[in-house]
Amino acid sequence: MTQEWDAGRLDSDLQGVGFDTLAVRAGQRRTPEGEHSEAIFPTSSYVFRTAADAAARFAGEVPGNVYSRYTNPTVRTFEERIAALEGAEQAVATASGMSAILSIVMSLCSAGDHVLVSRSVFGSTISLFEKYLKRFGVQVDYVALADLQAWEAACLPNTKLLFVESPSNPLAELVDIAALAEIAHSKGALLAVDNCFCTPALQQPIKLGADIIMHSATKYIDGQGRGMGGVVAGKAALMKEVVGFLRTAGPTLSPFNAWIFLKGLETLRVRMQAHCASAQQLAEWLEQQPGIEHVYYAGLPSHPQHDLAKRQQSAFGAVVSFEVKGGKEAAWRFIDATRMISITTNLGDTKTTIAHPATTSHGRLSPQERASAGISDSLIRVAVGLEDLVDLKADLARGLAVL
Ligand SMILES: *Cc1c(COP(=O)(O)O)cnc(C)c1O
Repeated sequence: MTQEWDAGRLDSDLQGVGFDTLAVRAGQRRTPEGEHSEAIFPTSSYVFRTAADAAARFAGEVPGNVYSRYTNPTVRTFEERIAALEGAEQAVATASGMSAILSIVMSLCSAGDHVLVSRSVFGSTISLFEKYLKRFGVQVDYVALADLQAWEAACLPNTKLLFVESPSNPLAELVDIAALAEIAHSKGALLAVDNCFCTPALQQPIKLGADIIMHSATKYIDGQGRGMGGVVAGKAALMKEVVGFLRTAGPTLSPFNAWIFLKGLETLRVRMQAHCASAQQLAEWLEQQPGIEHVYYAGLPSHPQHDLAKRQQSAFGAVVSFEVKGGKEAAWRFIDATRMISITTNLGDTKTTIAHPATTSHGRLSPQERASAGISDSLIRVAVGLEDLVDLKADLARGLAVL
């Protein structure tokens, strides 16, 4: 009974509603208690009415929960809400962003398959492909994110998957997702997009032709730095494989974290709007400062892919990177002069963060690899939070003053 309490009302009323309505309401099923907010179900297992009921549920003949590695009502609400927001047929939650990527590759690729990855992806994503997947016979090559001809040229007869992060971290490069999806499909391959930096509030890759997307929910979906999690979404036929892997291997999301993320999703678009508005102001302001050599932000007309960003995203994101004059020493002086902004490599938080990519997130790359990724010693990355803009400027001005 719990599941039917107002499910009919929700399912019929949520047809054709807008993004913000889905963000607040999609996927919720109330229990007979009538709770207004979503219930948390911290349970590992479920009881059956009879032995025959247990058998029918295990056989999948009757819908219902069996074990929380398979399904959990709070987690399912989160999955249905993400699917609704991404315009995907189905979503499945994972314990972290990395386990979302792992589950995509483990479920869709086999030994002997070839995977193409954009060069500028998250550091652990590269380690996962380089150190582990290669060991299991998956062939991996890297391509410059924005270069469509290079993607096409790098495809081999056994290319199974193209994996990209757009916009990239920390330099905010983009790829034309619709064009890349066409290339992938013409080669018989799938396109997967890490949509972490935009979230569905700014970009919906599946609507642009991508086959599958994933998130680190740890970032903007939570938005307040409280928990780890991830999610994969896509067409039902592909998701069947991903769900199968997750149920077997087990890096599934805890109900408590699913609940945190549900609360995060309810404010996702207003938060993203505020993050992006401040990021735009800061990027424009930084570009005017004498100690700054270059600002990387897709909302600036100086960004080489500004027009693509306008077409593909509804806003430009909240990560602003810039090079200061004076190399690593000046960059470190700048960072150490700030007093409010948090020195940490995390992002997607209400609290603004500042980091030096060359010696942190990209510190393990060789100098040549860093240079080819465009990460110079004078680069600083700011992930803009929700503090007052005037206070952010005042704190960054402390950095500018010591250049
Ligand atoms: C953080 C991050 C990940 C990994 O997510 P975790 O939740 O830390 O496992 C993957 N991709 C991007 C773009 C990220 O920022």
